Amino acid sequence: MCTEKQEETKQESISFVEEIVKKELEEGKNGGRLQTRFPPEPNGYLHIGHAKAICMDFGIAQKYGGVCNLRFDDTNPAKEDVEYVDSIMEDIKWLGFKWGNVYYASDYFQQLYDFAVRLIEEGKAYIDEQTSEEIAAQKGTPTQPGVDSPFRNRPISENLELFHKMNAGEIEEGAMVLRAKIDMAHTNMLFRDPIIYRVKHVPHHRTGTQWHVYPNYDFAHGQSDFFEGVTHSICTLEFVPHRPLYDYFIDELKEGKDLQDNRPRQIEFNRLNLTYTMMSKRKLLALVQEGLVSGWDDPRMPTICGMRRRGYSPESIRNFVKMIGYTKYDALNDYAMLEAAVRDDLNKKATRVAAVLDPVKLIITNYPEGKTEELDAIDNPEDEQSKHHTVTFSRELWIERDDFMEDAPKKFFRLGPGKEVRLKNSYIIRCPEEGCCKKDADGKITEIYAEFIPETKTGEANANMKIKGKTIHWVSCDHCEKAEVRLYERLFKVENPAVEAEQTGCDFRELLNPDSLEVRQCYVEPYLKEFRPLDYLQFQRIGYFTLDKASTPDHMIFNRTVGLKDNWNKA
Ligand code: ATP
Ligand code: MG
Repeated sequence: MCTEKQEETKQESISFVEEIVKKELEEGKNGGRLQTRFPPEPNGYLHIGHAKAICMDFGIAQKYGGVCNLRFDDTNPAKEDVEYVDSIMEDIKWLGFKWGNVYYASDYFQQLYDFAVRLIEEGKAYIDEQTSEEIAAQKGTPTQPGVDSPFRNRPISENLELFHKMNAGEIEEGAMVLRAKIDMAHTNMLFRDPIIYRVKHVPHHRTGTQWHVYPNYDFAHGQSDFFEGVTHSICTLEFVPHRPLYDYFIDELKEGKDLQDNRPRQIEFNRLNLTYTMMSKRKLLALVQEGLVSGWDDPRMPTICGMRRRGYSPESIRNFVKMIGYTKYDALNDYAMLEAAVRDDLNKKATRVAAVLDPVKLIITNYPEGKTEELDAIDNPEDEQSKHHTVTFSRELWIERDDFMEDAPKKFFRLGPGKEVRLKNSYIIRCPEEGCCKKDADGKITEIYAEFIPETKTGEANANMKIKGKTIHWVSCDHCEKAEVRLYERLFKVENPAVEAEQTGCDFRELLNPDSLEVRQCYVEPYLKEFRPLDYLQFQRIGYFTLDKASTPDHMIFNRTVGLKDNWNKA
């Protein structure tokens, strides 16, 4: 528990990004306006890394009375699709955020084209006919200046004519590019005549075949921010070297106007990297296309839709992002922290039910055959207003195989010869010293025998009998449903697959965990038929689960969200 003072300082600890925004608002900068944007490229599904950016972009606008717009950075038609646009919107909403407007960088294609034409007219851009390899070879190094392109001083009229030809579809892909004419000796390599337009003869998901030239990231992002009136353009650290270029193009664009106010300011924070996870969209796409996972929403994927299908709650993702915070240094975050946040949230929300994943039969030998009792079970003991449901008790039950041991060590507090346990929500039972189980020819236990102690029924006056044994879960053999469970583990078997693949030169596919999915048949209480995909469930003593999207009441399929305890680190 924290004291009032601690609570105060805890609330005051805000990120460095927030410090900047807060200060500028207090100073009345940008006329007191706060406008951010979340700018995904619609070339894949959002992942947990994007969630970190989303929580910042939307969260800060929400907290300080600003607006966050959603802008699709759709400048590369070859990789983009409306499927991704739709999924991105769905995932942001699910995470609990609302955008102001939806914008597309492609809405600015005309403005950007006009700007490029103006740069050409002012002698600040030229058409280069070299190959991308030749251009790269002339770039120089951070300590060595680059070499001028032989096309650098082409006459303006020729540049204009060629640029129009490029856009008219008369030039082959890769045959020409438009480069900004800045400084081939600049200490920031990005200023050495960056390519700003390239030819692509691919239909765009929004503008169709209207354009044959498309702007590069550095020629679209800052300008889009500027057109929209973004005040704070928050992004990740890899864009630090791009910031001067971002400012350069805005300076060119403003044409002498005073931008004291209303000029977007780029601020960078550290990316989210997670252990046992790869976040690159290109690699995630490969996993999907090659069938190495069942789709973008495979519950093992680090995508938002995968995590949703696995049973993670939006609150747990937001809480995790809060826990790790925003800094200026790259780090690798432990997946176990994310899982701890998931457990913490689901503990408050999940309905407790019984499911037996590795069943063996238990016969209560002194319980009358054919008799049943409806026993009370609370849905969630963490919730004061929790609902209750009933479970049926009978003579024959399924229990977990590992809750019984024939030659149990002293410290084994579950079933074995002469041992007692409480059956959840029902009675204390005791195994006889002799003849407490039956085995098949291979020595595998097929039945376990025990007697129940009638006066120990849960909730009744004499229920408090003290025993050494634990409480174990069960379902009645004649009153349960068969179901499928999918037990998920880490998708990758090494802690840092991206770095490992790079250092060893191996293919990232070799680093996939071959045991990341185990499918089993299990027995569950019939109450579960009332639940729907994405409902939060806790299988008592096992873990958190949810129903898969393919589940039906007649063929229930459960996805394991996370185990109750962190077994991974112990292993
Ligand atoms: P990829 O390079 O794999 O395609 P990306 O970073 O280019 O991913 P975008 O769609 O451009 O993906 O990202 C949209 C926003 O999300 C950007 O502002 C980017 O900085 C942010 N983002 C992407 N990945 C992460 C991450 N791992 N942690 C934090 N923010 C991220
Ligand atoms: Mg990107």
